[in-house]
Amino acid sequence: MKNITILGAGLVGSLLAIYLSDRGYKVEVYERRPDPRKKGYIGGRSINLALSDRGWQALAKAGIDAKIREIAIPMNGRMMHDVQGNLTFQAYGKDGQAIYSVSRALLNIELINYAENQSDVRFYFNQKCIEVDLENKVITLENTENGLTGQQSATEGEIYSITADFIFGSDGAFSPIRLAMQKTDRFNYSQTYLDYGYKELTIPAAADGSHRLEKNALHIWPRGNFMLIALPNTDGSFTCTLFLPYKGEPSFESVKTDKEAISFFQTYFPDIIPHIADVTEDFFTNPTSSLVMVKANPWIYKAEVALIGDAAHAIVPFYGQGMNAGFEDCYVLNEILEKNMDIWETSLQEYQESRLPDADAICELALNNFVEMRDLVGDPKFLLRKKIEAKINELYPEKWIPLYSMVTFSPKSGVPPMRYSEALAMGKKQDKIMAEIMQRPDIEATWQNLDFEEIVRKLVE
Ligand SMILES: Cc1cc2nc3c(=O)[nH]c(=O)nc-3n(C[C@H](O)[C@H](O)[C@H](O)COP(=O)(O)OP(=O)(O)OC[C@H]3O[C@@H](n4cnc5c(N)ncnc54)[C@H](O)[C@@H]3O)c2cc1C
Repeated sequence: MKNITILGAGLVGSLLAIYLSDRGYKVEVYERRPDPRKKGYIGGRSINLALSDRGWQALAKAGIDAKIREIAIPMNGRMMHDVQGNLTFQAYGKDGQAIYSVSRALLNIELINYAENQSDVRFYFNQKCIEVDLENKVITLENTENGLTGQQSATEGEIYSITADFIFGSDGAFSPIRLAMQKTDRFNYSQTYLDYGYKELTIPAAADGSHRLEKNALHIWPRGNFMLIALPNTDGSFTCTLFLPYKGEPSFESVKTDKEAISFFQTYFPDIIPHIADVTEDFFTNPTSSLVMVKANPWIYKAEVALIGDAAHAIVPFYGQGMNAGFEDCYVLNEILEKNMDIWETSLQEYQESRLPDADAICELALNNFVEMRDLVGDPKFLLRKKIEAKINELYPEKWIPLYSMVTFSPKSGVPPMRYSEALAMGKKQDKIMAEIMQRPDIEATWQNLDFEEIVRKLVE
């Protein structure tokens, strides 16, 4: 039996541990952060996340979906807030389709608890990887707290090494395992930062514990080249995320004083001011974080080391798919291992070949969706296009599926969602057709008379 070492007990590493132990492997997970169940969760990334069908499918296969549903809030659509405070609701899908807001901390804790209850999974927290020897599958770790460690016992500050049979790097966007792979021959790698940063703000619960805004929606304040979004939490609060350029007007650079911050919120987001106790305090206390995209190829080294989740493909958060994609990696890898009766060499090759185009596709889709969220959702022409597409979808539900639905939802329960790469290709075809339609003079008045059958024929042709 293979002993598998996973570096990183984030969302993907913890789910992967469940899958691998279900397959009968002995799994050890090393994590640099403290145990979130003992010392509180040190996130580093967003406080809550949107979980959608790809994530649910992977959680269901691992048997933990029911538990997570207890802590998930359905969001049935986008609630747009214009500068005057007017609200417009756009449903995400049909028949109550929803994405779900989940606390990152609670989700991670549930995954760790569930994994630890499996027979052969052990987590070692406060163990920071400082070096990786790929050739010999040796990971050097620093024990950052006194206590139990892995294969060797170490006291605080002690540096020790472990030797693995197989290593998974689920160690995030700045993966030390990937860093070691970058030094090998013909390894392709790119890292791109957006000119935007993000900052989280909190809308607390109302005095009676209820939500101050519509609970079952993802709230968006689209403002051209920047935006604010808010996702509900189970305690009645909302976590807002402000995406703003680093430089220019307005930007994180241009909002430096309390006066500037108040004026910024009064100008662009006046309707949230009454809900946040002290907007300047939140703005200046909370960190500004950067947004990075990482691409790597290959994801495997000699069938003995593999990358998964953000370590393999970090994307921007505008489709709410980073974690979902990482969970889908686990699901797909498991299906491949099952099919190949756990022959690792073939399976890993297949995992990489199958997931790489999908990772590239969701990277592109996520970047494109930023423009849609911050700018287009408030544009009348874009809204008309959405209306026309909804009509085509109503007439031909199997043939014309909106891009958002292809990426986010399964066609029906029990059926896996379309591959990201197929969704991207289909979305491009739809774009081309719709661009031509939207050019027609008087489209606002005449769209009801379009030849919808012909439009669909062009798509499937
Ligand atoms: C603002 C924001 C909003 C987002 N919203 C969404 C969303 O709505 N929906 C969605 O699906 N995705 C979302 N994402 C993306 C999502 O957060 C990531 O895709 C997801 O966290 C990836 O999980 P992971 O386990 O691969 O990596 P991570 O969550 O980064 O976990 C990596 C783990 O490895 C550990 N580690 C790193 N280095 C070392 C080391 N040297 N030694 C030991 N351990 C180490 C880390 O401590 C960490 O625990 C968002 C991201 C951001 C930034």
